[in-house]
Amino acid sequence: MAYDVIVVGAGPAGSIAAHDCAKQGLKTLLLEKYRIPREKPCGGAVMYRGLRLIGGKIPRNLVEQRIFGLRFLLPDGQVTEFISDKLIGITVFRDRFDEFLARRASDTGAELIDNSPVVDASVSSDSAIVKLANGTEFKASYLLGADGVNSIVSRALNLRPKRKDLTKVGLGMEADFYVGEKGVSKATGGNPTVLEVCPVEGRVSYGWVFPKKEHLAIGIAGAGVHMKALRPRFDSFYKQVEKRTGVRLNLEKRRTFFLGGDGLGNKNVTQRSILIGDAAGFVDPLMGEGIAYAMKSGEFAASVIRKAHDKNRYDEEILSEYQDLCFNEFSANFALATRVGVNGPSLAEIILPRANGHKLASEIMTMVARGEIGYADIPYTVFKRLPRELPAIIKQVVHSHLT
Ligand SMILES: Cc1cc2nc3c(=O)[nH]c(=O)nc-3n(C[C@H](O)[C@H](O)[C@H](O)COP(=O)(O)OP(=O)(O)OC[C@H]3O[C@@H](n4cnc5c(N)ncnc54)[C@H](O)[C@@H]3O)c2cc1C
Repeated sequence: MAYDVIVVGAGPAGSIAAHDCAKQGLKTLLLEKYRIPREKPCGGAVMYRGLRLIGGKIPRNLVEQRIFGLRFLLPDGQVTEFISDKLIGITVFRDRFDEFLARRASDTGAELIDNSPVVDASVSSDSAIVKLANGTEFKASYLLGADGVNSIVSRALNLRPKRKDLTKVGLGMEADFYVGEKGVSKATGGNPTVLEVCPVEGRVSYGWVFPKKEHLAIGIAGAGVHMKALRPRFDSFYKQVEKRTGVRLNLEKRRTFFLGGDGLGNKNVTQRSILIGDAAGFVDPLMGEGIAYAMKSGEFAASVIRKAHDKNRYDEEILSEYQDLCFNEFSANFALATRVGVNGPSLAEIILPRANGHKLASEIMTMVARGEIGYADIPYTVFKRLPRELPAIIKQVVHSHLT
């Protein structure tokens, strides 16, 4: 049976794209490797930018914690916090969050087939074809590769090398620790609405402690080339968290993972086909945040395919609008994150303590997390608001020098 669009992978990127394609009247097939709900290693922090794309509509039982702030613990022991009175995100368990997005796509008309690994994909001037492990083939006018960081579609279409380039991807380890509600409260100093980002010994970018209702999601990640001896580093990190918080952490299962990267430095489009989300490499190179980018790229891909379909066009040129949309939306964020990331925690160590406690800094962080501005808009926003905020900033600087 022929489809207008086949989407490979029912993560946030694929499910948003499948939903939007189906909503626009395109005959859409969404293929997922595992039986849904499927497990996914992830801190599970979904920034409000991502939630906006589904109109903020998410069943309450999927929300583990509502998030209002970020706390950075620096190597010298300093703590920088940005707390907002607006919601900046939520934490979720990815199996249930992703299932919700996949069902949302199928409720809108996309045909969802899970437990069906795609083993090959090809495009020609006639059609796009995917092949399942059981030999079944499906044909469509367009193909969306949303199959994550180990994307088969990207490799089958020669958009990525067969072997992973460790200089371009991140690597890490994480685990969910059951600590009960009391444990979460104790570990977060009674405020489980803040995401904590911490330094990790050695040349590792960062670690995190994200509160859920009864669990703490704890992990470390960094550039693939630097992530040697992952397991001892992870164990040392979570044991430090245990010591610092006084909450006993019983390790059940460590999960190793790759993180996507360098999405804008690569080609993500061929005739009839587009890569989205982690398959394209759209992950913030500093923080490893990728859910909102995956969702946004899914939305972009669906809109570009709708236009191409209306014009009966399948060529790379018409689909390349997708590259432009992603570049305009993500490039400033990724460039800044790369700069801070490449210079290591040292740049963050210089900037963050100076921003601690400033109302303006918290407001800017809130606007970025909510998608009201991008990183590129930060200087202008600061400049615009500075006259109003200057007296308070001077007062704070003077106060901090006197005390
Ligand atoms: C440990 C860790 C922590 C993270 N924490 C955060 C966080 O807190 N916040 C955040 O925003 N981002 C986080 N990220 C990044 C985030 O998880 C990804 O950016 C996001 O999941 C990308 O969504 P996606 O839909 O592109 O890919 P995925 O979510 O990976 O979905 C891809 C889907 O494709 C399916 N698939 C794969 N191969 C095939 C195949 N051959 N055939 C059919 N289906 C296939 C997979 O089973 C999967 O369901 C984290 C990543 C990791 C690894």
